[in-house]
Order: sequence, then C-alpha cells, then structure tokens
Amino acid sequence: MTQIVDDIKPSYPLFRDDEYKEVLARKQSTVEERHDPDRMEEIFQWTTTQEYQELNFKREVLTINPAKACQPLGAVLCALGFEKTLPYVHGSQGCVAYFRTYFNRHFKEPVACVSDSMTEDAAVFGGQKNMFDGLENAKALYRPEMIAVSTTCMAEVIGDDLNAFIANARKEGHIAQDFPIPFAHTPSFVGSHTTGWDNMFEGIQRYFTLNEMAGKEVGSNGKINIVPGFETYLGNYRVMHRMMREMGVDYSLLCDPSEVLDTPTDGEYRMYDGGTRIAEMKDAPNSIDTLLLQPWQLAKTRKFVQGTWKQPASEINIPMGLDWTDDFLMKVSELAGKPIPESLAKERGRLVDMMADSHAWLHGKRFALYGDADFALGMTKFLFELGAEPTHVLVHHANKRFKKALDKLCSESPYGQSTRAHAGKDLWHFRSLMFTDKPDFMIGNSYGKFIQRDTLHKGKEHEVPLIRIGFPIFDRHHLHRMTTLGYEGAMYMLTTLVNAVLDRLDEETREMGVTDYNYDLIR
Ligand code: SF4
Repeated sequence: MTQIVDDIKPSYPLFRDDEYKEVLARKQSTVEERHDPDRMEEIFQWTTTQEYQELNFKREVLTINPAKACQPLGAVLCALGFEKTLPYVHGSQGCVAYFRTYFNRHFKEPVACVSDSMTEDAAVFGGQKNMFDGLENAKALYRPEMIAVSTTCMAEVIGDDLNAFIANARKEGHIAQDFPIPFAHTPSFVGSHTTGWDNMFEGIQRYFTLNEMAGKEVGSNGKINIVPGFETYLGNYRVMHRMMREMGVDYSLLCDPSEVLDTPTDGEYRMYDGGTRIAEMKDAPNSIDTLLLQPWQLAKTRKFVQGTWKQPASEINIPMGLDWTDDFLMKVSELAGKPIPESLAKERGRLVDMMADSHAWLHGKRFALYGDADFALGMTKFLFELGAEPTHVLVHHANKRFKKALDKLCSESPYGQSTRAHAGKDLWHFRSLMFTDKPDFMIGNSYGKFIQRDTLHKGKEHEVPLIRIGFPIFDRHHLHRMTTLGYEGAMYMLTTLVNAVLDRLDEETREMGVTDYNYDLIR
C-alpha cells in the first residue's frame, strides 16, 4: 500500500490498484453488512419502473433528497450583501458549520458567519445568555458595523424571542443601544432558503425604515430600488449594475454580496468587502419604486414595500431570457423616464443572433429542470424562446398558486403542451421521472449528478446528462461567477445549453467507422 513520492496519486486512480481493490472488497464483506448485489440490482431496476414512480408520487410525509436548503442559510446570504455586516445565527453551531461549508464549496471563498453555539443547557433554559455573550464577543472580535441575526430550528422549537433578547442585551450593556442589529426568525421546519432570505431582508427593511418614515416621500430621491432575492450567480449583481449604469438610471441594489464572495487574492484578507450601504437602505423609501427580481420568493419584502414604503412594487418576472429582460428594461425605462440605450439594444440584437444561430440544435430538444421558483419559471420561458421543450419542471418549495402560474406559462407556448409542473416534490420524485419519461438533458444543481449516474447504470441509452445551472454547484469550478439574468445571462445559458447538446452528439457519434459520419468538425 505505497505511494511513490514522485508520483502521488489521488484516490482515483489509486484505489484501482489491486491492493486497494482487495482492501475495499474485504471491507465490504466484513464490516459493511452489504446486501446481496443481485438483490440490490433487482431493487434498483424496480425503482426505475412506472409502478415505482406511481408509488413514489404517493409519498406524503417523507422527503428524500430535498431540492432546497433551510431558512437561515438564505438569511446568511442576505446579511452578507450589506456593508460590514456579520451574519449571526442564534442556535446550534453545527447548523452554522453547514451554512458556511455550503457557501465555501459553492463560492470557493471563506464565509464569515458566527453562531452563539446553543447546547443542551440553552435548549432547556433558553438561549438569552448565549446571545448576550455572542453579541458582545462578535462585536469585539470581528468589528462589524451591523450584526444580522437569524435563528436555527433549535432556537425556534424552544420559542426564543429575538426581539426581547436583543433589547435585553442592549439594556444590560452587552451591546450599544444604537448598534444596528436587524433580526429575523427563520424556522427551518417551514419554507426554504428563499423564505429565509426574504425574512432577513424584511428584518433589515423593518429595522432601518419602519420607525423612520416621517419625512419620506416616494420618488423624492429619483432612484429605483432593485432587490435580488436569494441570488448566487455573482454575475447577476454585476449585470444589474452595468445595465442600470448604461441606462443612466439612479438606483440602489439592495443587497449585493458580489464583492465579499469574490475577493481577489492580493495578500489582504477581507472579512467584509463591498455590500449595500446602510444609508442606501435608509433612503430606500424615497425611491420611485422597488423592483423584486425574484418575485415568487419575496412575499414579505413586497408586503413591506407596499405597506410601509407605499411604493407599488411593480409586477415583473425574473429578468431571464429575452422577453422578460425586455419587460424588465422597459419597466425601468418607464419608471425612471430614461430610454433604453443603444448599447443594450445592440446586446439584445446579439442575443437574438445567437438564438438564431443555435436554433437548429436546440429546437425540439427535451429538458427536465429543477430549482427555485423564479429560476424555474425563467428557465422554462427561455427554453420556449429557444424552441426547446421542457418536459418536467420541479420546484420543491412552491405552492399551488405557483403551479398554476407555471401551467399557464406552459399552456401559452406550443412547446409547453406536454410540460408537467411539480410543486412540493423532491429529487427522488425527479429521479423517477428521468426513467419513465426520459428527456435529452436535465438542468439543475450538482445533486443531479447522482441521478445521471443512476440513469447511466440502467444503460447508456437511458443516461440523462446533467447541465449545471442552479445552486449549489459544488463539483464544477467558477460557474457561480457567471450571469443568468439579462441578455448577458441568456447568452451564457444559451452557450451552456447548445454546447451540452453538441458535446453529447460528439460523444454519441465518435465510434470510428461506425457513427463518425456524423462526428463533424463543424457544427
Ligand atoms: S434544518 Fe434546522 S437543524 Fe438543520 S441545519 Fe437548518 S437550522 Fe440547523
């Protein structure tokens, strides 16, 4: 069992050496209590059948492989988007380790976030003392200018009251009276990471503006507010800045973690970098309107914008693909009274040109997809624009109203007549569908790679390749820096989709002397 110093091998291919094969086989037979391989294969084959799918879809109380994450994870991302803000989670340390590693693996960046490490005693007596110490220590050690507090399941189950705890911490001198500490209760047994983002954002809106509305006047600062929602494509923040700048529109991007999650390696570690300034949030009620880029996940934010800021929160769809980017820019143009500039018109024209160039390869291709509600809607719409056919669209955290909206969108496109929307279903449901109604590709986050492997195990002709668009993407590098919104985002997604089709075609036609009549240099 040796490694040679000049040729150190990673686990693959090292574990293919005979001695490792032997060790692994011994481990399987002696300590793993492995089931009979024939029986396992029999069960595997059964899970690929229509009969199994029907049973699978009758599941009511069990989730297998959720296509969502928990609330505080979203709250942490929201907090990271504000200047010099430390996300603080009241609850268990392990939860925070999970949030941090989840973001580390996706963004390949360190992620600052603290917990007040509630353990058994706090679970019995409440976590107020943890919060007193936690706030004091976090402020002293990490010197933030704002601490944004959310909760884990544990704190929620025992009913800890953040408002009271923070007020008491101030009263007892653990933290200054005027130090900003917005908070949000983020119980993970309801909702998802997108609900958590929405809750935290509303907490920040509430903290800085609820009692400061005197003298505020809608439209008085001439700005448009843009709220991104749970957004993990850093290019999407940048494309918003660019499009607004090109339009000459005064705007506030309310929450922008694109700097802190993409800091340069230049010898200086930055715990905080960039982010929306508190002053911008305070000024937000004076704007003409607030546009919610992912409206299906921002219910509380919208309610606050309309109810407290008295702005219309004009209805838009996620600016994904051609039409909905058009709609977004026209809405901005209408609100700000600025024309759409030549540069954006040209960019649009380039996208249309690309769509025409790739049309022959994408027309009629069948894609199944899963992800967050707004992404799923936007991606479905864009696939229609490309002449592709979405077969199954699955959103774990969605309600009947969302399903109705998705069904309506599909009914309006000739390519959506057989699309099926699945709300409240998980990736084990999705796996069944990949066997019983095989698409050409699936679109989603990294977790789909195991579904691809399962379909391949059934046979090459059953394999459904995964196209990675979504969150999290752990097993490919740098995709989080790409853009999925605006014309620029549509160009990236189109490039990704069409090249996946061409890669697959090459793979299927490269057998020398058999299928290479179609293994072309020019596609
Ligand atoms: S679901 Fe609850 S227990 Fe699990 S990581 Fe999220 S907050 Fe922690």
